[in-house]
Amino acid sequence: MHAPDVIQKKRSGEELSHREISFIIQGYTNGQVADYQMSALAMAICLRGMSAQETVWLTEEMIHSGKTLDLSDLDRPAVDKHSTGGVGDKTSLVVAPVVAAAGVPVPMISGRGLGFSGGTLDKLESIPGFRTDLSIAEFRKALEKVGAALIGQTKEIAPADKKLYSLRDVTGTVDCIPLMAASIMSKKMAEGISGLVLDVKVGSGAFMKTTADAAELTELMIDIARGMGRECVALLTDMSQPLGRQVGNSLEVIESFEVLKGNGPADLTALCRELSAEMLVLGRGADDLADGRDTYDRLISSGAAIEKMCEIISEQGGDPRVVDDYSGLPAAGGRCVVTADSEGWVHAIDTAAIGHASMIIGAGRSMLGEKIDHAAGMTIEARIGDHIMAGQSLATLHFNQASSADEAETLVRQAFSIGQERVNGPQLIKERRGQELGREIAAT
Ligand code: URA
Repeated sequence: MHAPDVIQKKRSGEELSHREISFIIQGYTNGQVADYQMSALAMAICLRGMSAQETVWLTEEMIHSGKTLDLSDLDRPAVDKHSTGGVGDKTSLVVAPVVAAAGVPVPMISGRGLGFSGGTLDKLESIPGFRTDLSIAEFRKALEKVGAALIGQTKEIAPADKKLYSLRDVTGTVDCIPLMAASIMSKKMAEGISGLVLDVKVGSGAFMKTTADAAELTELMIDIARGMGRECVALLTDMSQPLGRQVGNSLEVIESFEVLKGNGPADLTALCRELSAEMLVLGRGADDLADGRDTYDRLISSGAAIEKMCEIISEQGGDPRVVDDYSGLPAAGGRCVVTADSEGWVHAIDTAAIGHASMIIGAGRSMLGEKIDHAAGMTIEARIGDHIMAGQSLATLHFNQASSADEAETLVRQAFSIGQERVNGPQLIKERRGQELGREIAAT
């Protein structure tokens, strides 16, 4: 078999066989299929799509590109949460310690920034010393000792996704339903979890811009999870504006600490509470969602959740003092306030443009393996539905590379649409899909 033949077959819109998909994924993982060939195939898949069967085969091959964890010896079912990617989306940094503090194990394999969206690994690596590259043995040990561990795909677990994820990030092949489904589900199914909560983002700052596309991706992922015998619930949530106020790695770590201390912004707190409640139900740490929300509130107000975050940081080699002393985290030297040109109501925010602007000032990558600036990012001061005066601040950029600040400032200014009629803010949680295997979840 030859990679160019497989690429050409997909380019002409034909369905690939299981053998062809296996040949490509195994070859790519062991270096016999080159980055440029995989890029061409990824682009052909973006343009021509994949059937549900091809996507299942792709996911299976990506799972089996490495080892899968067996966590059946843990005394509770392990659960995880995964987001399809957004701007300012830092919920993993909150839900992992909360759910672990309730005694439910959270083995979390995450990704780096992808396209204009941020990534959990890049955020965590803002914390001095924090290691996201634990070996399987270290990952298991952390899970047993602390109850949660957050790592990236490795050479041992989901190695095909490790390579393909980075390649897609820099080749314009991120927002593609089969590639996203296989990427997300291969990591998650390799983790040894029994339940998964999906946060499927919809809107201008998501890869799925419409509810119809988000629903298609959701159903595909739920079917893959069910086919592999896992419980799976999905929330379709708003990404028409950044989640929370902070965008950029170190800034988002600080904001997630604030949520864990009970001082976070309302939208981010509400979503973290709901995702945690769903995870707690799947992990048998709560009887129903109402009980899960009460547990979340209790763990935040008692300080148990932030304490668990300190334990996770210490176990993974980081300095837990940053939880109380933010001066230990990277901070940018430059600031630039982006102000409104006219009075009115914020009608819309081009959230992908906000993500691009933060990439331009150093928070994301445009080349394979590029170093990022953990301090760079922005604080969003105006939200959809807010009334603002001319000259009022819309956002503040935090940067070290002054040369790119002008371009980012223009992008951010243009990202805000201001109109003369009053509008309401978007609904945060749009829909809930999926149910546990064999038992309904009480939805209230
Ligand atoms: N998250 C992932 O892990 N993969 C994607 O393709 C998108 C979001």
